[in-house]
Amino acid sequence: MSVPDSAGGEEVKQAKEIEDAEKYSFMATVTKAPKKQIQFADDMQEFTKFPTKTGRRSLSRSISQSSTDSYSSAASYTDSSDDEVSPREKQQTNSKGSSNFCVKNIKQAEFGRREIEIAEQDMSALISLRKRAQGEKPLAGAKIVGCTHITAQTAVLIETLCALGAQCRWSACNIYSTQNEVAAALAEAGVAVFAWKGESEDDFWWCIDRCVNVDGWQANMILDDGGDLTHWVYKKYPNVFKKIRGIVEESVTGVHRLYQLSKAGKLCVPAMNVNDSVTKQKFDNLYCCRESILDGLKRTTDVMFGGKQVVVCGYGEVGKGCCAALKALGAIVYVTEIDPICALQACMDGFRVVKLSEVIRQVDVVITCTGNKNVVTREHLDRMKNSCIVCNMGHSNTEIDVTSLRTPELTWERVRSQVDHVIWPDGKRVVLLAEGRLLNLSCSTVPTFVLSITATTQALALIELYNAPEGRYKQDVYLLPKKMDEYVASLHLPSFDAHLTELTDDQAKYLGLNKNGPFKPNYYR
Ligand code: NAD
Repeated sequence: MSVPDSAGGEEVKQAKEIEDAEKYSFMATVTKAPKKQIQFADDMQEFTKFPTKTGRRSLSRSISQSSTDSYSSAASYTDSSDDEVSPREKQQTNSKGSSNFCVKNIKQAEFGRREIEIAEQDMSALISLRKRAQGEKPLAGAKIVGCTHITAQTAVLIETLCALGAQCRWSACNIYSTQNEVAAALAEAGVAVFAWKGESEDDFWWCIDRCVNVDGWQANMILDDGGDLTHWVYKKYPNVFKKIRGIVEESVTGVHRLYQLSKAGKLCVPAMNVNDSVTKQKFDNLYCCRESILDGLKRTTDVMFGGKQVVVCGYGEVGKGCCAALKALGAIVYVTEIDPICALQACMDGFRVVKLSEVIRQVDVVITCTGNKNVVTREHLDRMKNSCIVCNMGHSNTEIDVTSLRTPELTWERVRSQVDHVIWPDGKRVVLLAEGRLLNLSCSTVPTFVLSITATTQALALIELYNAPEGRYKQDVYLLPKKMDEYVASLHLPSFDAHLTELTDDQAKYLGLNKNGPFKPNYYR
C-alpha cells in the first residue's frame, strides 16, 4: 500500500501548490497532460535530499577512466578511419559560415539529420515536452555545457533544450560513442559541438575544454554523464562555479563522484542525481538491457540461445534484464550475487544462484553486470571451455580482467569488429566481446524509446534546477522529485494508448494521497 506523503495536511499542501504554480508558470504549462494534470513544483519536503546506496559507495576510479575505458559506437554508420586527418587540424564551416564546432566531417550533416529524424519518431514524449514548453522558454538564458554520448537520441535532447531557450556547447563523454554524422548535423544546426568517434585521450580533454573555456560565454548549467566535465571544471576553471546554478548527472559513476565531492564538502552547487530516479534506473538499466543484451550478442556472434548455459554475474537492474531476456529464449541461466536480497530475488525468479567457479567449466556464455572489478579473473578464463563467449554489460571495462589475457602464451585474433578470439596454447578459444567494454553500447544499438525516458528526465531536471528559487536546493546531491518522475512516465503513456485510472476523492482520502500525485513516497524504487 502507498504511504501518505504529506504530513502537512491537505489544506496546506493545496495552498503551496497554487503558490508554486504561480511562481513557475512554465511548470503549469508543461505539466498539462491530456487527461491528468500532474504538477510537480509543490512541496519543499519532496525536494529534500535522499541519500541512496550509490551515495554511500566509495569511489576509487580516476577521472578519465570510465570515459576512455568503456566505449560505445551506438549506431554510427560512419567509419572513424574514413579520414586520417584529425578534425582538430581541419578548417570547417557550416552553411551559415560558422566554425564554432569541431566534428569529423560537416558534410555528413544531411545524413545525420535523417538519423535524428528517425530517433524523433520514437521520442514522442520528449518532442511533446518540447512543444508544450517552447512558448514559455523555461531555459531562456540557460547556458548549458554538456558531456554525454553524442548519438541521434542525444541530439533530440540537445535540440529540445535549445527549443526551450538554452544555448548549448557539447562534447562526448566517451571517445568511441559519437555518431559523426549526428555531430555534423548538430554543428550544421548551430550547436557548438566538439566530438568525433575515435578521439584520443588528449582530444577528449581538448573537446571538453573547448566547451568550457570560451571568450564571452560562460556556462550556468552542467549536464554530465560520468563526471569528467564536472571534474574538468573543478580542476581548471573553479571560478565557473560562481555562475553555475546546478549540475545534472546521469551515470552511476558520475553520481559516485558527486557524492564524494559532497562528502568532502567540496560541492559548491546543487546537483541532481538522475541515475537514481525511477524513470532512469528501472527503464534504462532494466528494460534497455533486457532488449540490447540479445542484440549485442547476436550481432557479434550469431549465437543461438535455446539450450545454451549462461551465467550472469550480478542480479541488479541490468542483470535482471539480461536474465529475463535469456530465459525467454530458452537459455539455462545461472546467477552469481554477493547480496543475499538480490540472490533471493534470483531464486524466486527461477534462477540457480551459484559461485562462478562452480559453473565456469560448463557455461557457453559469461555476462558481467556488477559495476565491480575483477569479477571474471584469469583463473576463470583459464578454466572456461572452448568457444565460451565472455562479455560485460557494466559501465566500465574493469569487470573482466582483460589485462591478464595480454600475456605471451595467449594469441589474440580479431575475427570481427569488436570480436576477439583469445587462443590458449592447447588451441582452446575464448570469444571476448568489445575487449570487455560495455557490450550493448559497443556492439549494438540501444532502444530509442528508453533513451527518450532518460532524456526527458534530464530535461526536466535541468528545468527544475535552473528555475528553482534560491534556497530550494543547497550545495548537495538531490534526487529528482517523485512528481517529476511520475510526470516523465505519464508523458510516455500515450505511446501505448494507456489509460490511467483516476483516484476518486474518497479513495484519495483513504490512501492519504493527493489526486494529482505523487502516488508513491520519495523512497519508492
Ligand atoms: P545494481 O547495483 O542494481 O546491480 C549490481 C549488482 O551486482 C548488485 O546486486 C551487486 O550486489 C552485484 N555484485 C557486485 N559485485 C558482485 C560480484 N563480485 N559478483 C556478483 N555480483 C556482484 O546496478 P545496475 O543498475 O544493475 O548496473 C550495473 C552496471 O551496469 C553498472 O556499472 C551500471 O553503470 C551499468 N549499466 C549499464 C547499462 C547498459 O546499457 N549496459 C545501463 C545501465 C547501467
